[in-house]
Amino acid sequence: MRLFTATLATETNTFSPLPTSLQNYKESVFFRPGEHPADAPRMCTAPLFVARKRAEEEGFELVEGSCFAASPAGTTNRADYETMRDEILDQLKAALPLDGVLLGLHGAMVAHGYDDVEGDIIERVRAIVGPKCVIGVELDPHCHLTLKRLSGADIIVLYKEFPHTDVVDRAEDVLDLVLATLRGEIKPVMSVYDCRQIQSYPTTLQPMRGLVDRIKAMEGKDGILSVSIAHCFPYGDVPELGTRVLVIADGDKKTADALATTLGEELVSLRGKTRPAALDVAAGIAEGMAFNDLPVVIADAADNAGGGAPSDNTDILRHLIETGIEDACLGPIWDPIAVRLCFDAGLGARISLRFGGKIAPSSGQPVDAEVEILGLQRDAWQSFGPTQVSVGDCAAIRVRGVDAVLIANRTQATGLELFTNLGIDPTRKKIVVVKSTNHFMAAYGPIAKKVIYVESSGPLRRDPCKVPYIKVQRPIWPLDDDAPPRGLIF
Ligand SMILES: [Zn+2]
Repeated sequence: MRLFTATLATETNTFSPLPTSLQNYKESVFFRPGEHPADAPRMCTAPLFVARKRAEEEGFELVEGSCFAASPAGTTNRADYETMRDEILDQLKAALPLDGVLLGLHGAMVAHGYDDVEGDIIERVRAIVGPKCVIGVELDPHCHLTLKRLSGADIIVLYKEFPHTDVVDRAEDVLDLVLATLRGEIKPVMSVYDCRQIQSYPTTLQPMRGLVDRIKAMEGKDGILSVSIAHCFPYGDVPELGTRVLVIADGDKKTADALATTLGEELVSLRGKTRPAALDVAAGIAEGMAFNDLPVVIADAADNAGGGAPSDNTDILRHLIETGIEDACLGPIWDPIAVRLCFDAGLGARISLRFGGKIAPSSGQPVDAEVEILGLQRDAWQSFGPTQVSVGDCAAIRVRGVDAVLIANRTQATGLELFTNLGIDPTRKKIVVVKSTNHFMAAYGPIAKKVIYVESSGPLRRDPCKVPYIKVQRPIWPLDDDAPPRGLIF
């Protein structure tokens, strides 16, 4: 058996003020065949990581293609997308004949001229490998589960957890299902139910925690091979945006249809019930200060780089400084120029620094302050479950009682290393502010005595009715009151 694997991924916020070019991929994940590190998967590369480990014992030959992934931001440059895509497709042609293909994609990538990048990739891969080759795809649940990609792939598996702590487990699932299909042990058939709704579904909280545990228990029984919930990515304005349920059954379409319908109807009944409440900045910090244990972790979800935001909004930092709060830390603020200035000044220096508040009106105003440079580190990283995320060069500065982390590679807060790299111990701070929607919970949930979600003036509006959609198919809840589920669409 010969299998081919490659990755081309980003999460595109079509409203983001930050365009995405080849340079952003080079700064994030950019590996030519054979160059992928052996220590851990990177963003969306778990299929390669898993297949490389298992090739020998499972008796297949793995042909590695390129892996390209960029941190979430705006729409990808068209020529750069086509260059990366065509490089992978040329590798695929050179690898023929193939029995299987494993694609590590994200599922919410948009390039200029391509609203459905993953559909485009899968369709072209199918045209090259032919109808018999088994195509398995791993996607992020914050994806657009379009008909084009369902038509082109044999097996699609999404991460179940948000925060995405199961990227390796789900890549194992994709490989298991592809190999079982090739060995003639199963005949996967997919069904998809369209709930026609836009919503956020953190799985660290009820009712989603219970739902995910139940769907995990269903797999491997009664002919059910895999169950995935496509949460949707609310900041990608594309026609097929919305929550969908995907069920893969063994040879029996009716079984897949029935379960997709049952679970889809359950998700429709959860409209408005899966997202945690958020406070405004002043109320959120006041509630944190009033709590009599530490640390209190405050999430600035509206400025989450993981959703394509710049991560340089200054609302919460300003409030902490202006109200004289001591014993707080905050990060990450993406400001490569300020990082450069801190390195130039040196460890321990006290300087006047302007930082944050630069990219767009939704960033707020920059902070001008006397700062002490507490820590400096070149080319640093933070963990995210089993994967590593680069934060680039970073600096810790003290602004009155607040320790802020400035980073050069834009990313959200996922690991404690964001602070500990620079000598800040978040477990000993009263208030820990993280720019992240929910991925921070994997590392910060266990240390937090309390978690508070705050809505700053960052660009990721929590209420979909405040997002200026143009392309999304209507009606859809909550943009339209009368938006019944579309039901089975595949
Ligand atoms: Zn995601």
